[in-house]
This record gives sequence, C-alpha cells and structure tokens, in this order.
Amino acid sequence: MHDILRRLGLDKHPRVIADPTGTETPESDGVVVSFNPATGRPLAAVRLDTAEDLDRITARAAAAFDRWRRVPAPKRGEVVRCIGNAFRDRLEDLGSLVALEMGKIKAEGVGEVQETIDIADFAVGQSRMLYGKTMPSERPLHAMKEQWLPLGPVGVITAFNFPNAVWGWNAMLAAVCGDVCVWKPSLLTPLITIATNDIAERVAREMGHEDVFQYVIGTDAAVGEAMIADRRYPMISATGSCRMGRRVASVVGQRLGKCLLELGGNNAVIIEPDADLDLALKSTVFGSVGTCGQRCTTTRRLYLHESIADEFVARLARAYETVRIGDPLSEGTLVGPLITAQAVEAFENAVATAQEQGASLITGGGRVDPSRLPGDLSGGHFVTPTVLRAPANNRLPIAMEETFAPILYIFTYRTLDEAIAMHNGVDQGLSSAIFTGSSRSAERFLDPSGAGSDCGLAYVNLGTSGAEIGGAFGGEKDTGGGRESGSDSWKAYMRRQTCTTNFGETFALAQGIRFE
Ligand code: NAD
Repeated sequence: MHDILRRLGLDKHPRVIADPTGTETPESDGVVVSFNPATGRPLAAVRLDTAEDLDRITARAAAAFDRWRRVPAPKRGEVVRCIGNAFRDRLEDLGSLVALEMGKIKAEGVGEVQETIDIADFAVGQSRMLYGKTMPSERPLHAMKEQWLPLGPVGVITAFNFPNAVWGWNAMLAAVCGDVCVWKPSLLTPLITIATNDIAERVAREMGHEDVFQYVIGTDAAVGEAMIADRRYPMISATGSCRMGRRVASVVGQRLGKCLLELGGNNAVIIEPDADLDLALKSTVFGSVGTCGQRCTTTRRLYLHESIADEFVARLARAYETVRIGDPLSEGTLVGPLITAQAVEAFENAVATAQEQGASLITGGGRVDPSRLPGDLSGGHFVTPTVLRAPANNRLPIAMEETFAPILYIFTYRTLDEAIAMHNGVDQGLSSAIFTGSSRSAERFLDPSGAGSDCGLAYVNLGTSGAEIGGAFGGEKDTGGGRESGSDSWKAYMRRQTCTTNFGETFALAQGIRFE
C-alpha cells in the first residue's frame, strides 16, 4: 500500500481493502476500486454501502441533528475551529492523497485542503453572525423579527475533481448552521472521503458530538437515487455535471425539497487589444491547463481581438510546449493525468470533432506516451494540453459543450459587444473574465444592467479559475444557480422564520382589516 495511505491510517481502516488484486471492474462484488490515474494501477478497494446502509446512516443523521441543533451556534463554531486545526495538522498528507487519487498536482492538492481550512476559519466567524433582522410592524404594540434556524440533515453529493474542498465548503458552513451532513462522494475518490470525514468526525466525537459528519459510499443506483428521494434530507447540495443536476433537481423538486446545485461550466476569457498581454497569457495558460482542464472553472474558450489574435496564439502555443506533464506528486510537474481512460477518449473525440467542424489544431491534440515520462507511469491517463482555433466564421458547435479535459478553443472578434454576445452564447454560466486596460471595457463586461457577462463569477484582469472562499461561488443557467462558500451562502443551510409578537391587549389585523 502507498505510504500516503498508510500515513493517513487507511491501511487499517475497516472500510478499506488494502490489496484489491483480482477486482477487475471499478464496482463489483460490493467493492469499489480506487485507481491512481497517473499509473492506472489500483490504490486500494473500499466496501460499498447499500440502500439499507444509507437508511441506517440517515436515521443516525436525523437523531444527531436533533442534538446538534440545540448546541449554541458559537459552540458549534468551536468544534469547526478544532476540525480546521486538525486539517492543518494533516494538510500535507491530505493534499498528497488528493494528488494521488484524483491526479491534480500536489501544490493544487494541498491548495484544495487549504481551501477547506480557510472555509472552516470563515465558518467559525460566521457562527457568531447568523444574523436575522428586525422590522417595524404596521400594528401597534407588535414586534417583528426574522430568525434563521437549522435546516436538518444535508445530503452532500460531490464530484471527483474537488474531492475534499467541495465537501469542506458545504460541511463547515452547514455545521455552524446547526445541520449535520451525509457525504456521498464520487466513486472515483472514495479514499479521500474516508480520510477527510474521519478527521472531522473524530474531532467532533471527541468533543461530545457524534454523527455530525457521516459518509455513504455507494453506486448512484443504490445510494445516490435513494438519498435524493429521501424526505429526511430537506436539502441536497449536489456538485457535478449538468446531467446529474437535472436528475437531482427533478427528484428533489418532486418532493419539494431544496437543492443547491453547482454544475458544469464552459468558461471564457475575452482579451481586448489594450490588455496587458503578458498577464493575460500567464492567466490563460493556468486557467486552461491547470488540473489538466478538470476544474469546473477551467478556461475552455478564448475570445481574442482580431488585432492581437495571431501574435497571442503563437505565444500561447510556445507557452503550452513548456508545460511539464508528469507524476502529480513530483516537484516541477504542472499537469497531471486525466482521471480515467474514458476521460481520455472523451478528450480525443472532442479534438476530432472540433477538427471535423473546421477548427485547426494549434498545439497538443493527443495522448502522451507514458513511457516517455519520468518514473513508472505506464497505464497513466496523460494527454497533451490542446489549443484549437475556430474557423473564421467562429462556428464551432463542440465548443458549446463542456469536455472535462485541457482543450482551449480560440475565437476572434472585432467589437466588444460581439465578443460578449459570443461569450454568453453557451448554456452554462459559471466563470468569466476579461483582460483590458480600459475601465470602460471592464465596466461594460460587469454592466450592472446584466447586459455584460451572464456568469456567476466575473473577473477583470485575472483568469476564470481559482476563486477565493470569501465570495459566494456558483453559476447561472445550466450551472444550476447555487451559491456556496463565502458572503451570505450560509443562508442556504438554514430556514428563515418570520416571527411576530403582539405584546398589547388588542386584536389587530394587518392591512387594517376589521373582523368584529
Ligand atoms: P458527475 O455528474 O458524473 O458526478 C458528480 C456526483 O454526482 C458524483 O458523486 C456522482 O456519483 C453523483 N451522481 C450522479 N448521478 C446521480 C444520481 N442519479 N443520484 C445521486 N447522485 C448522482 O460529475 P463528475 O464527473 O464527478 O465531475 C465533473 C463535473 O462536475 C463537471 O461537469 C464539472 O464542471 C462539475 N463540477 C462543478 C463544480 C461547481 O462548483 N460548479 C465543481 C466541481 C465540479
């Protein structure tokens, strides 16, 4: 077993089978095998939960919720503070495990766990600021206020690409709000779930609060569908593809539950002729190749003003060729593997389709032969970050879809209005950016009438990828409309109650209605 797994105690964990030899398929015989995407070899196997297990876990969550909601919010914050500190102690190991199991480079894996620590800190402060409002009543001797109450057990469904932080954004805030969480992760990253949740659960348990953090690892058919249909979860917070979001929204909607949806993106950058092109270049390369194109906020489309397009494309191609591909855990690697062999196929299909649709290949476009990479990475899912330039008429239907791989499509424009129209002309609405030296162009992009970027995140002179936890994170249109993390996102984990007290002695109705 890999050292990183041992350091996190996964070798002795009752759910983990250290030697998965003989288990050929990802999900068979009640176990799921976790693979290292950089080698294609198994790391360990994990016993799967069934619908009956979920039922038991949900009953425990409901009982834990009844206890936890009675703990004063600042005391819940104290528990979250200690959990954040426990993650600080394991930052390096957890970040390495993210790199090992998901395939992002170690710096990004550690950065992801740091994000969970940051949101824990944020949530501690928030635990003393779950503010309601008071409002004047129109009736004499009446008082009105609004208060925020815990919601219940929250089902947290996460995608493979942020296997630690997406849970952190949800769980840390939900916990200070008085909710308990049941985490249903992607079956591609079960080990990170076990390691992460065990740390949080142990800290909470040692402080006298059992079952505030639980997880269920099972198939979508057995466990995912049962969770989203279960009325004991007043809210399902789901992160993943638009396809998954449509299913979750319809099942949860049928039972009139609440959804928080963080779905696919198809993010674009506009580069104006007056932009700082060095800055734009660095940001675009990070945004498009970082995490091997497997971030929801990855830059997938680039709109270049026609006066700078040729020069910028040439510089981009040179920069791409210097990007070091390899083992995510090795120093100096900038791009790791894709998650699975199917992801490599989807990448190849998209590249081929783009070319059939008239795009020209600028750089990349294929698999990397792992035998040419340092270390034993045979079986790794490596591809070359790819740039494709759309035909002169800018018609490239494949660019309207999110392919979860490092493919950047380039378009050219004449006017900023034309660029913004093309930028907004996709179904998704997560992250967006403009590079410009002009405040007029910047403000046009951020137009408060809503006629600028139609995304949930809009940046000026920085790339689409890499949000800070202090702001509300999420997107519009097919991205699902959810908001997580900072600002007032905590309200999603609570229910609002408007309270009115008559402290007089007369029967008074609103709107002056007399009923005597
Ligand atoms: P996915 O949709 O395949 O799976 C996401 C999660 O949904 C997994 O846990 C999966 O098991 C679960 N799921 C799928 N069908 C379900 C069902 N019927 N019932 C219950 N659960 C179900 O996504 P993925 O491949 O893991 O992740 C990549 C996608 O996630 C991309 O589209 C990416 O843009 C998106 N994503 C979005 C954000 C965001 O914040 N907007 C963040 C990360 C990833």
